[in-house]
Amino acid sequence: MSPIWHPFTQHGLQEPIPLVARAEGAAIHLADGRRLIDAISSWWVTTHGHSHPRIAKAIAEQATKLDQVIFAGWTHEPAENLARDLIALMPEPLAHVFFSDSGSTAVEVALKMALGFWHNRGEARHRILVMEHSYHGDTIGTMSVGARGVFNRAYEKLLFDVGTVPFPAAGTEQATLDALDQACRTQDIAAFIVEPLVLGAGGMLIYRPETLRAMRDICAHHGVLFIADEVMTGWGRTGTLLACEQAGVVPDILCLAKGITGGSLPLAVTLATPAIFEAHWSTDPAKQFFHSSSYTANPIACAAANANLAIWRDEPVQQRIDTLAARQAAMLAELAALPNLANPRQAGTIIALDVVDPAGTGYLSTIAPRLRESFRGAPVLLRPLGNTVYVMPPYCIDTADLAVLGQAIADAAESIRENP
Ligand SMILES: *Cc1c(COP(=O)(O)O)cnc(C)c1O
Repeated sequence: MSPIWHPFTQHGLQEPIPLVARAEGAAIHLADGRRLIDAISSWWVTTHGHSHPRIAKAIAEQATKLDQVIFAGWTHEPAENLARDLIALMPEPLAHVFFSDSGSTAVEVALKMALGFWHNRGEARHRILVMEHSYHGDTIGTMSVGARGVFNRAYEKLLFDVGTVPFPAAGTEQATLDALDQACRTQDIAAFIVEPLVLGAGGMLIYRPETLRAMRDICAHHGVLFIADEVMTGWGRTGTLLACEQAGVVPDILCLAKGITGGSLPLAVTLATPAIFEAHWSTDPAKQFFHSSSYTANPIACAAANANLAIWRDEPVQQRIDTLAARQAAMLAELAALPNLANPRQAGTIIALDVVDPAGTGYLSTIAPRLRESFRGAPVLLRPLGNTVYVMPPYCIDTADLAVLGQAIADAAESIRENP
């Protein structure tokens, strides 16, 4: 038995853990020779495709030049180039880049920036507002601002208290806006953190850009900082470079990770407006931003991110995304016609449906293991969220692979229909 303790894995169920040998484009290849279509972009990170030659080359070249150096008080070209190009690509007035290593740390940094902002200005604002069903990571801080449930029940006593506004499901948007407005009025709110347009781990729940816009306006009105967690939605996932774009929204603080290196190496950034940066700018050392990690702005990871930005600059990435989104829309329409697939929804290159479970829903729904079992025999890597099946592939996936995916989902739905 392997000594490895895998993430989000119940080893007691003794489900097989396949050995992956290599990956290329939209496919991963197992050591036993099987080829699987990566329908979830290896947990939402792979954008252009696996083992992208331009990204791989940038990594190899940087690894022989400068592998790592302390970033507190020192700098290097890969980070300088990346920060400059990111700021040019991202909307104004986001003008400052703080590096970290994962989506969770990008969110932790965002929360600390928001609290530091109010602290350094001498205003007592400590409370964070969140949206129902949100997911922002698995550290104590990010679990605190995420949905409570079976995932974090053991740690619940350690999680800090937050205010929660209801998810703006279609038809209930005004209730969310009223709750947000009310919360901003009555409590010492430092910031509101939100996943723009799509709540990923919460079940691929999608809400309208108009609602995102209205939430941003409410926060601005009350002087509450607006944090956009685009860790999953960024880098074209919802059809535009940022999901916020579709709502004409610019946050005070923006978190990016996952696709920032095209999905090749761990790296994250937290972008901030001049107001946030200036609140920490002082001759007083006590007002500096107290955060770092050993590998902050690792040069090899920055080189991978620079190669990702070059791909966005030089290649028709937007066109690939548009083509893929149109093909997925057609696939969604076909799947939605099946009797036990409900709530079809799409945001750019993400499509999702719920498998109707007579026994109820939720992450531990009995449908989930049966779906996993069904997909195990198929040439696909799909990982349903409870009874929600979603497809979020690398942008390079072709029509043949998409057809195989559609068939695998239809077959799984059918097998559950026939053996309820
Ligand atoms: C994945 C995710 C995170 C956490 O990112 P990690 O790199 O896994 O720490 C945070 N926020 C959102 C919206 C995510 O989807």
